[in-house]
Order: sequence, then structure tokens, then C-alpha cells
Amino acid sequence: LMSFITVACQKGDHSKTSKNDSAVDTKVEALISKMTLIEKIGQLNQYSSRWEMTGPAPESVDSMSLYNMIREGKVGSMLNVTGANATRKIQAWAVDSSRLGIPLILAYDVIHGYETMFPIPLGEAASWEPELAKKSSRIAAVEASAVGLHWTFAPMVDIARDARWGRFMEGAGEDPYLGAKMAYARVKGFQGDDLSDETTIAACAKHFAAYGFIESGRDYNTVQIGDPTLHNIVFPPFKACVDAGVATFMNAFNTINETPATASSYLQRDILKGEWGFDGFVVSDWNSIGELLPHGVAADKKEAAYKAITAGSDMDMEGNAYINNLEALVNEGKVDEALIDDAVRRILKIKFKLGLFDDPFKYCNPEREKNVLRCDEHLSAAKEAAKKSIVLLKNENDLLPLKKDGLKIAVIGELAESKDVPLGSWRAKAITNSAVSLLEGIKNVTGSSNISFAKGPAYTKGLRSFTTELNINTTDKSGMSEARSLAASSDVVVIALGEDCWQSGEGRSQTDISMKGFQQELLEEVYKVNKNVVVVLMNGRPIEINWMAENVPAIVECWHLGSEAGNGIAEVLFGDYNPAGKLPVSFPRAVGQQPLYYNHFNTGRPTNGEGNVFWSHYTDESKEPLFPFGYGLSYTTYTYSGLKLSSNELTEGGKIQVKATVTNTGDVAGEEIVQLYIRDLVGSISRPVKELKGFEKISLEPKESKVVSFEIATKDLEYYVASGEWKAESGDFNLWVGPNSAEGLEASFVLK
Ligand code: BGC
Repeated sequence: LMSFITVACQKGDHSKTSKNDSAVDTKVEALISKMTLIEKIGQLNQYSSRWEMTGPAPESVDSMSLYNMIREGKVGSMLNVTGANATRKIQAWAVDSSRLGIPLILAYDVIHGYETMFPIPLGEAASWEPELAKKSSRIAAVEASAVGLHWTFAPMVDIARDARWGRFMEGAGEDPYLGAKMAYARVKGFQGDDLSDETTIAACAKHFAAYGFIESGRDYNTVQIGDPTLHNIVFPPFKACVDAGVATFMNAFNTINETPATASSYLQRDILKGEWGFDGFVVSDWNSIGELLPHGVAADKKEAAYKAITAGSDMDMEGNAYINNLEALVNEGKVDEALIDDAVRRILKIKFKLGLFDDPFKYCNPEREKNVLRCDEHLSAAKEAAKKSIVLLKNENDLLPLKKDGLKIAVIGELAESKDVPLGSWRAKAITNSAVSLLEGIKNVTGSSNISFAKGPAYTKGLRSFTTELNINTTDKSGMSEARSLAASSDVVVIALGEDCWQSGEGRSQTDISMKGFQQELLEEVYKVNKNVVVVLMNGRPIEINWMAENVPAIVECWHLGSEAGNGIAEVLFGDYNPAGKLPVSFPRAVGQQPLYYNHFNTGRPTNGEGNVFWSHYTDESKEPLFPFGYGLSYTTYTYSGLKLSSNELTEGGKIQVKATVTNTGDVAGEEIVQLYIRDLVGSISRPVKELKGFEKISLEPKESKVVSFEIATKDLEYYVASGEWKAESGDFNLWVGPNSAEGLEASFVLK
């Protein structure tokens, strides 16, 4: 400890942190010394809200009840208790009735808002604006903390490459660099600068690790992954969370190379707590300790508890494995009590840092709850986030933006009138039907009475339950002819298509990622009678839209944009806001291309079609994405010129300045996300054909030019080489600065 303090003081800026930390450490140790073994194990036990919470008063429930367990110090945390009154009630019980009065840490899945809904994280990543993600997480924390929550199970930072996986919507897409920037920003947003502030909450980086790499995109499935991909692609966003000071991690349901993540010492002890020095705690995923049985690595819960605690899982979410078995395991000498102490220490430390021992009720504040949930300021931030998350995918003949008056506009599709779908999956306590629908937004923004609506045939609704199947076999086509005739008698059609919000999310994997129900037929019918079609896409994952992309003049990707979705979309459609978002994920042409990602490797075969031979390819579909990673249009156009490197040689410890000029060549102001990619041409192992290494969002007035500059240092070229080190290997590199992962000005340099 002495040497740590000396180092911190020498650095100068850490003295405050180390002082606070050591003060906390002292309190934690003092408390631990008073705890019985079962009270310690109790701190590792987390339950979800039960009927008792809203049922009989504590005094009248039987001895097996949650209340009694809390009184006996056998529960350290709860999830899913919401509302200031309920959180106060359970907290009061913990503090007043238990021997040591240790406060509970109360958690909830606050993923993209609490009551004010922001775009789903995949959508928000399309803004390429970490500050925006920080702000929405900040607001989510302000709302969640007001109702007495201390901890969110977010951000979800799993890199995803397979659109069949329903949980694509929860993360920031396919790229580790963008993913790391968003992850860092989200942690900072939830936690603020000071965890003890009553408006900040502890964040949780999840799911550690590689959950996004499940085979066949089927939720909870097996993961087989090589070491370089694990380190170079999966880990960076998690490491960014540690760098941001994230308080907690959640492990994952999946096995990874035959070991369940929950039982992986390599992940939790060697990497997270060892190499990265993470000093917060790890919570299991829901019963993931119990799932060690079906995974076939534990014969019973006792063995599961042994494996999980040994591997570094500190808290057991709903598994009942620790509370029922750890005491015996310690008494039998199979688990060293020091392991339990380490887990308790980590958990208590976060409770102290949150300030729960100073005032266990400071987070539940009915007054603040009343004032901040869905307040105007939060809704206007949600609108800002919605607009910035929109990606213009196609706009032939400048069909968009539309004029606000003089046009007879047909708004078509059930999704267009939905006030619920835009709230998205993982919506915390969003009020059902509380979003501004697309139809409402169009009316609000245009103030026009020349707007008509036809629902068309019912699209397929999703179910909330994880395990029941969707009823995708609707046969009811009524509504088709009404939609067609409205389209025929209108100047322009705005049609909303895509997915219900419950078609993506946990347990919502699909083998077919095209639009469900009669949506494709509806689109084609409408297009037959009116070519001026604008498609507004609402979806939680990339979906198949080949026909649409080929035929329809305008496509606007709108994800599930949250509380203010309709207003945000309408401001884009009618030109009040010039869209600037870019895809955080490659859009496939066919589900059979999955997994599809821009930073792939070359095959050994030529790719240029020389002699008309295309080696590594599909015989029935292009191997290229429909829209590449980083792609997105604007109502103006940009040109890129004058790419210059300060030197074509980079030496160890040196830097190269990269400059390019971007010009707005159109007539309206806009924002452009300028992207920097590199390729390491020859490595000790194969290197991706492109890797994002920088981006910057700039705004440009019409005809204005700006020089964008980036810096490349040796550190940026490092990667995890086969021997297990991070190294930048000397040799030739290509570099691109451009508008997306498939286009750009090219240069090269050598790393000496
Ligand atoms: C999910 C987690 C979530 C937890 C608690 C699990 O099923 O995988 O992401 O935080 O439930 O709701």
C-alpha cells in the first residue's frame, strides 16, 4: 500500500482518489471484521423483486420469505425493485432489521433510458457521438437514481457480427474502436465524476465475454473464438469500461471455448482483475451460476458455486448457489474464506463509494422522482439523440427533404402509428404507448392537414416473453387495398417498415432477417401505384432490404428511437435537421452472409475477378454488404481531398499527422463523420483488411472546407500477436480517410 501511495503522489493527480480509496478500505475492513461467514455470503446474494414486495407487510410473511432473509443478512442486492416508495421500503427493512444494517444495492436494467427513452444503443451508436451517449446515460442515471436505484446493468458492450442475434440492438455494433468510445462514454454518463453524487449510479460492463459471438446467432449458444479475436475485437470495449472506472462487470451465459464464462478464471481473474486491475465486483448473469449444471461442468449447485467463486464471480444473481452452498464449502475447507472476503470487500467498497452507508435513502427521492421523470429537458435531449441517430441510406433525385406544404402525403404502415414500438426493447420503466409516433411527428412538424394514414395489413407483432415463438403466420391481408388506393391518390408515400421492438432483444434470434408479415408485399403494392416512396425503417438489427434498396428512391434508417422518435424522424424528413448518422454495422444482402463485418481477413484467393474467376464467393449472391459499415448520406454532398501525412515513416514512440480536406459541395449546412482506417499489410498473423482508428464529426456550411487532422502513434498500431503480447510490428501500412469503410483517399506509410 505504501508504495502505491508514493506512486500516486508522485503523479500528483491521483492523491485525492487514493486518499478516498484508503478511507473506504479502512471502513470496509472494519465492517468485514464484524461479519459472520453467512453475513458475508449474504452480500454475494442477489434476488429479483418478489410478490412480497407489493404483498403483505414484512411482519406477516413466513420465515422463508425474502424479508426474513434480508433480516438475517442473507441478501446483499436486489434487482427489479422500482419506484421511490418501494425502494425506500425495502432499503429501510435492510437497514433497520438486519444485525449490521448493511444497505442493499438496488439494480435495474437501465439500458437506454429509465422513463424517458433514448434510441436503442445500436441506433445511438449511429450518431458516432460519444458525448451524446454520455448525455443520455447521464439522464438515465438522473431518472433511475431518483427512484432509488443505485446500479444499472449497462452498458452492454458486446461486439456483434451476426444479425440473427436479437441482442444486436443493445450494443454499439460491430466495431471495437467505435464500441470502445461509446462504452467509455456510457460509463462516464452513468457514473459521472463522483459515484457518491445522488444523481449518479454504478454502471456494469456486460456480458464478459464474447456473448456477441454465439454460434448461429442463437441466443445463449456456444462461443468458439480464437485468442487474437478475443483480445483484438471483443475486449477493447470492456477494457475501455475499466479505463472509465466502471464499478461492476457482469459475466455471460455462454461457454467460451468450452468453459462457461461464469466459471472462467482466465476471463475474470487473469484478465479482468489481474491484467486490467479491475477493483470493482463481478455479478453473474441471471442464474448463470445455476446454468453451470446444464453446461455440464458442475454436477450440482454446490459444485457450481465452488467453480464460480473460484473463477472470480463475486455476486450470484438469482442462482441460490452461493447462499445455499458457500458456507458448507468453506467449513469443509474446499473454499478459502479469503475468496469470500475478497468478493465481499469488492461489493462493500462500491456500496461505500455510492454513499449508501452515509445515507441509504439519498437515492430514493419521491420529490425528485416527480420532477425529473420524463421532464421537458429530458424529452428534448431524447429528441436530439433521436435525430442524430438517423441514417439516410438512399435519397434518389433528392426526394428528401419533403416540402412541408402543398404535398398530399400518405403515411402508411402500422409501425407509423405505433406509440409503443419506438420505445424499443429493454425499455426499463417506459410508459406503454408513450412515444411520439411517426404519424404524430409528421403532423407536429408540418402542421399540415394534408396528411392521411392507412395502416395496411397487420405486421407481425413480437412477444415480450423470451421463449415463446412469434406468431408470424398472419393471413389477414385486409388493409392492403386501402393502403394502395391512398398511395395512388397521394403525391408522396411515407411508409414505416421493419420490426416490432419485441422482435429484437434477448431471446429474439431469427433465421430470417427479412421483414415479417406482409410488409414486403405492402411495399411492392404501394410502389406499383406511386414511385415517390420514402421508407422509414424501424428495426433493432440489420435487416434484409435488397428489393427496397434497389427500387425505392428514399430509405431512412430510424431504428427504435425512443420517446421522441416521431418528432425526430419528421424533422429529418422535412429538412429541419440534416441527417448525419452512419451505420455502426454492415447491412447484409442475405442472412446467409452472416456473420458479416468490414474488418474481416483476406482469403488466400484473388478477389479481383481476374479472368472472370471469383474464387471466394457465393454463387447466388454478392459477398459484399448492401451498405457498408460507416455508411450514411446527407442532404448535402461532401468531397474529400488533399490527404497528407506529415511523414511516410513512423518510428517507435513517434507520431504521424494525417490531414485531409473535407468540403461541403452542396447548398445546405451539414455534419460529416470523417473516418480513418488503416491496414497492416504484413503481420506475424493475418491482419484485417481495414480497421477503424479514428473518426471526427465536423459541421460544414455550404461550400465550406475544413481540414480534419488525425494522429497515428505507434500505440494505435498495436495488436495482440500470437505470442500473447500487444505489439506494433514494423512494416508497411495503408491508410484511408473517407466517408465510410468502403471509400476514401488512400496513402501509405512504413513503421520502422
Ligand atoms: C440478461 C442481462 C440482464 C439480466 C437482468 C439477463 O437475462 O442477460 O443482460 O441484465 O437478465 O435482467
